[in-house]
Amino acid sequence: MELTGSSAIVTGGASGIGAAAARALAAKGATVVVADLQADKGEALAEEIKGVFAQVDVTNTEQIAAAVKAASDIAPLRAVVNSAGIGWAQRTIGRDGQLESAHSLEAFTKVVQINLIGTFDMVRQAATAMSQNEPDEDGCRGSIVNLASVAAFDGQIGQASYSASKGGVVGMTLPVARDLSAAGIRLNTVAPGLIDTPIYGEGPDSDAFKENLGKNVLFPKRLGTPAELASMVVECLTNAYMNGEVVRVDGGIRMP
Ligand code: NAD
Repeated sequence: MELTGSSAIVTGGASGIGAAAARALAAKGATVVVADLQADKGEALAEEIKGVFAQVDVTNTEQIAAAVKAASDIAPLRAVVNSAGIGWAQRTIGRDGQLESAHSLEAFTKVVQINLIGTFDMVRQAATAMSQNEPDEDGCRGSIVNLASVAAFDGQIGQASYSASKGGVVGMTLPVARDLSAAGIRLNTVAPGLIDTPIYGEGPDSDAFKENLGKNVLFPKRLGTPAELASMVVECLTNAYMNGEVVRVDGGIRMP
């Protein structure tokens, strides 16, 4: 699928995997709307890649609508990456009070609202806009990639909300791909393993934590890079024969 002359939206595009995906899509010729809560990082990246920043909280349906309109006003919206996401106190679980907080309804609802419902809301609104595009030679009008996680298949202590949210992203992949195929839209999911991004926090403590995490990976024994994930995201977006798939990119960690 050709992206030159198209717009793209990357939620969570200000950081980590989303930022790498935004750079990769810009390099493929798309004008990228970086949709994120973080204005400073998002605006800087948008300037770097000659895109546009949109202040979006994915739990706010009007802000999603505004981002879809902003992208469609630039050029036909043909690519969307849903990378906005949060974990829940992964590094501190087990310490006093943390399990209680991780199992609070507030925590569970917040994580599911951002990671699962926010993703679904962008999918449905973007698909409506994409369905108006002229089809390419395959009849394709647009392509969407959602970010799940290996935690959808094998969760860690204190990560019930995260695993449930990402399990939902995996679970919706095939039915939503089936629904959207009728409109000429492909949808795939990328499930990362342990990737070196600010999701684990920043600073010396986080660096030590991440170095330790890398030892759990089958091979290579390190965390993945955002660029390694972005490359699979772009493949799923642009490969005309990828549809309804969940692809793990995880160095073989937690093989089923
Ligand atoms: P990150 O923290 O670097 O980036 C996530 C971005 O999402 C941030 O810029 C943040 O501001 C944004 N965001 C958070 N809540 C938002 C909201 N309500 N509305 C809009 N934006 C919001 O994290 P990352 O590691 O790049 O994660 C990207 C995606 O990949 C997430 O969905 C994450 O769950 C998933 N993932 C990451 C890893 C990993 O090891 N890094 C592993 C598996 C899955």
